[in-house]
Amino acid sequence: MNLNGDLNIVWRREWARDFETPWSIFEKLSVANVVDRDSLLRTFGNETIKNMKGNLIGDHRRELMYLASFDEELIIKVLGYNLFEHNRSTVSLLLGPLSNFREKAAIWFSKQLRWCSECVRNGIHSWFHQFTLVEKCPYHGLDLINACPNCMEEIPFLLSNRRLGSPFTCKCGFILADFSTSRWREWEKCQEITDPYLKQWLSRDWQEEHINKWIFIPQYGSIELLTGATLRSTLLLDIKNAFEENMSSTLQEIFYDNKSTFLTVDRYIRNKFLKNHSHCIKQFREMRKGDEYEFPKICPYAFAYVFWRKTLLVCEFFYNRNTRGDNIEEPRNLDSTFQVVTKLIKEELQYLYIEFERLQLFGNVQELKWVLNKVTSQFSIDFFNKWLEIAEEWASKETAPSWDLIQKMKQSSFYEFAFKINRSDSSIEYHQLRKEALNKVQFNCPNCTISKRRSINHMRSFTPMTAAMNIFDNPSDENKRLMQCINLYVSKLRF
Ligand SMILES: [Zn+2]
Ligand SMILES: [Zn+2]
Ligand SMILES: [Zn+2]
Repeated sequence: MNLNGDLNIVWRREWARDFETPWSIFEKLSVANVVDRDSLLRTFGNETIKNMKGNLIGDHRRELMYLASFDEELIIKVLGYNLFEHNRSTVSLLLGPLSNFREKAAIWFSKQLRWCSECVRNGIHSWFHQFTLVEKCPYHGLDLINACPNCMEEIPFLLSNRRLGSPFTCKCGFILADFSTSRWREWEKCQEITDPYLKQWLSRDWQEEHINKWIFIPQYGSIELLTGATLRSTLLLDIKNAFEENMSSTLQEIFYDNKSTFLTVDRYIRNKFLKNHSHCIKQFREMRKGDEYEFPKICPYAFAYVFWRKTLLVCEFFYNRNTRGDNIEEPRNLDSTFQVVTKLIKEELQYLYIEFERLQLFGNVQELKWVLNKVTSQFSIDFFNKWLEIAEEWASKETAPSWDLIQKMKQSSFYEFAFKINRSDSSIEYHQLRKEALNKVQFNCPNCTISKRRSINHMRSFTPMTAAMNIFDNPSDENKRLMQCINLYVSKLRF
């Protein structure tokens, strides 16, 4: 390519595919013309870009959705088709069903490059791959890759040399696709969409769907959910009895309803999974131990339960500071702020609350509570199962998992769900996608004999506070050593 204005660019129209993003178009241009991305940007950029040095051009001028920094006329002339229009129509085709969301178009597309290893081998990167509601390549069914498999760095979805070296090659040297021998023969291969959910998404008559509305948390949605989830339950909307709610009483009702939902789930879990471990929970939660310095082995069931409760309620300590009461704080400023006891998922619940209020879908607060209840109880049960899965390993180490791992457990506990507002029969439907069956774990409980159970009753509680009090009363070496022991134990179980 001659960069002095006399353009002689190697390009064939057949190299561009349906739904392809400008990212792979530019990579192919880079291969065929042996130029780097900054040269491409300056060649195809508008006047402003042409006069800037490559290293001074910021990320916002390198974005590939609107291509605002590019010379539209020139690109159309060189590529032989309207890449701008292609981008616009592909994006609006994908987002059509999401028109009732207040989010901007860009939030539905990943900021990092997500790619399919097979597609990229054919020189193709598709808008489907960038679309966050798609999880697998719709052509090959493969999981999408969102970071370099070699250096683990993410590659920004931009026309940028920052994380890329040669065309289709990570800065670290990892080759996404190699065209050195095949040259560009691969680029003309046709691909067919095989994913049934995406096919349905693209062909469905969304006009009809516009009457009804889908509501879900963008982070936990998927095309599969909106085309293939199962209807779990339906609530008829009580439109006749609709009345203006007063915000402060709505917030109050939401809080106390959430609290009672949590307590119901808590009781359910204790009855279903923990019937034979109430003494184990008591031992672990009250930090009970005998005359030895060390604390007894932690029962995995007690570990799962205590940490499930601590993380879900976002409590500061895993142990009980006072042995009475349910450990749930009374809310403050409930008149004006959205609050729940399941603080771990407060943002998600608040998102739904705001969406439903914004769309003015409800006649009264009962329906809003129904929605929040569904999400709270489903999440809480699934989240407990995640704790059960890891309990044995971490209980034996007497260590709490990292906050990072807990976040991952949270993500995967949000089994994808969506609500559908049915305008024709004034109802609201709860749809859910169940991906994996709940596993049934069996652990060895260290306290299963009667004598062990009895001994827990005779143990005394040694929390850091009681240890400090002991030293206050009697600063003996023994009490100091005991406190060290207790502090070490607690620090390992902190995150
Ligand atoms: Zn693919
Ligand atoms: Zn790399
Ligand atoms: Zn047990």
